[in-house]
Formats: sequence, C-alpha cells, structure tokens
Amino acid sequence: MPAKSTPRAAAPVRAAEFRRRLLRWFRGHGRDLPWRRTRDPYHVLVAEFMLQQTQVSRVEAYYHRFLERYPTLQALARAESGMVREAWSGLGYYRRADHLHRLARVVLEDHGGTIPSEPEHLVRLPGVGRYTAGAVASFAYERATPAIDTNVARVIRRAFHPRLGARATERRLWATGAALVRGRDGPAAWAFNQAIMELGALVCTARVARCGECPVRTACATGSKRAGVTLSAAKGP
Ligand code: SF4
Repeated sequence: MPAKSTPRAAAPVRAAEFRRRLLRWFRGHGRDLPWRRTRDPYHVLVAEFMLQQTQVSRVEAYYHRFLERYPTLQALARAESGMVREAWSGLGYYRRADHLHRLARVVLEDHGGTIPSEPEHLVRLPGVGRYTAGAVASFAYERATPAIDTNVARVIRRAFHPRLGARATERRLWATGAALVRGRDGPAAWAFNQAIMELGALVCTARVARCGECPVRTACATGSKRAGVTLSAAKGP
C-alpha cells in the first residue's frame, strides 16, 4: 500500500510554545519504557507491533521475552511460524505475530536485512500501517515525520482544531502533525513524537482532559479556555 502523501501545512499558532512546554514536561514525566532506550529498528518494530492492540503495562514482559527468543530480525526470519506464535502466546491478536514474521522474511529478501527508514517504504511491509511506519521512522531513525495514533490525534484535535472536533479529517491531523515536527530531524523528532503520545496517554486522555494540570495548557486552544472538564460528562472535542 503506498503511503498517503501528507499535505504541507503552516505550523499552527503557538506551535513553538506547545513544543517547548511539551518537551520540558516529557523530560521530567515521560515513562522509562524499554523501547525508549533503544534505536534498534527491529526492537522498535517488535514493540510497535505488540503495542498495536495491547496496553503498555502488559507489553513490557512480552517484549523482553520475545527478544530473548528472537534477538535479531534474521533469527525471526529463520523461525518456524508455529514457534513464533508460541513466543507471542498470551498477547492475543496472533495476526500481528504472523505479520511480523512475514515482515522479517520480506526485509531479509528484499532489503538485504535492513529495515527501511522512510515511511513510504515502511508502509509497504506486512502489517505496517501509516502510524507504525511513522513510528519506526521516528523512533528508530529519528526522522522528522509524524506518527499519529489515537492518543496523538486526540491531542492535536483538542490543541489545534477544537472547532472541528471529531470532524477534523485524518488528512488535516497528519498535516498538522507534520508541521509540528518539520525540520527537526534527529533526537528532537524522536522526543517530540514520544512526548505528544505520552501526553495523550497520561494527561489528555479519551476519558478526561486534565487541562488544569496540563503542561501545554497555555498553548492549547481547548485548555486555554477551560480547565479539567470530564469529557464523558460534557461533550467536547
Ligand atoms: S490543555 Fe487540555 S485539551 Fe489541551 S492538551 Fe492539555 S489536557 Fe488536552
């Protein structure tokens, strides 16, 4: 599947302040997760596949166990599919394991064993969607590319498109995400994408926007107008 092109948008108003405040908060509050200690593309891919439908707290133990068994992409590519499923057992959604296994073989055969770094190439691999392609490009290769999962989409919608709310299209959200990281190749791209994801997981959640304690409140179109509204009780973006 070819990668969708991301339209070029101007950086949103208060983008610089949003980034600055977000990164400062992340340095003090970001969780120390094992896949944040590596830039190994294979390890990042394994984590992203596991996180697709499973919570962080459950993934940690499986991540270590899987990598002990298959420490490299080459080792995974050589494995029998029944053994890969066994290593995945307990995590559920076994199609992820099948896709990861096929991906390892495709990368070995078609890319000489090197996981691509460009989202346009990553998205053609088995089981890799637009978000996962962006995540691997950013978290393994530190590319200045957006990685927008449901948490990040929610933060961008509330912070920069509150009037559109749920009507903010995928295209619009990706354009804003791209504008926020543009020109920031390197550790800054990695940190921004990790940080905005963390904010969506811990502060700006689906159930409640904790605007009163949010580090980016003054740069957020929603938070600058209100504080601590429970979204299940009051409809909001
Ligand atoms: S200020 Fe509120 S709406 Fe804005 S990002 Fe923070 S928690 Fe979300």
